[in-house]
Amino acid sequence: MEEKDRKNRIRFEFEARSQNESLARSVAAAYVLPLDPTVEEVTEIKTAVSEAVSNAIIHAYPGKEETGIVILEAELRGERDVMFVIRDKGVGIADVSQARAPLFTTGAPEERSGMGFTVMESFMDKIEVRSEPGNGTEVTLIKRLDSGNDW
Ligand code: ATP
Ligand code: MG
Repeated sequence: MEEKDRKNRIRFEFEARSQNESLARSVAAAYVLPLDPTVEEVTEIKTAVSEAVSNAIIHAYPGKEETGIVILEAELRGERDVMFVIRDKGVGIADVSQARAPLFTTGAPEERSGMGFTVMESFMDKIEVRSEPGNGTEVTLIKRLDSGNDW
C-alpha cells in the first residue's frame, strides 16, 4: 500500500500489566469514534483489540509480565479500513495455526477458553499473526467500516 493511502498513524506503548487491557480497549474505541462507526463496529473493534492485547499481557511474558512491553498501533488504510497492530517482544508462538484453532490454549483450562483468536477472526475482516519463538508476536487486525467515506 502506498504511503499516501495510510493515514493518521498512532502508537501506544505500555507495560504488560492486566489493568492496561482496558486502557488499550479505550484507545481503540477513541481512535475510531471520529470515523462515525456503528455501535456494533465499536464493540467488535474493542473486543478484538482487547483479545489481542490480553494475549500479549497473559502469554508473552510468563512469570515476568510487568517487565514486558506491549505496543498498540493504529492507522487508516485506503478509503474505509482501520488497521490495528498489537505487538510484543515475548516468548512467541511455536505453531501459529495450532494457536489460532478454536479451543486451543496453553493456559489453565479453568481460566482460559482458547477462543481469543476465534473471536478476533469473527469480528474483524482480516487477521494476520506473525510470530517467532523467542522474538515476540505481531497480530494485525483490519476492519472495513461502513462509514469513513470522507476520511
Ligand atoms: P482465551 O483468549 O479464550 O482466554 P487463550 O488466550 O489461551 O484463551 P487464544 O487467545 O485463542 O486463547 O490464544 C491461543 C494460544 O496462543 C494461547 O493459549 C497461547 O499459547 C498462544 N498465544 C496467543 N497470543 C500469544 C502471545 N502474544 N504470545 C505468546 N503466546 C500467545
Ligand atoms: Mg486469549
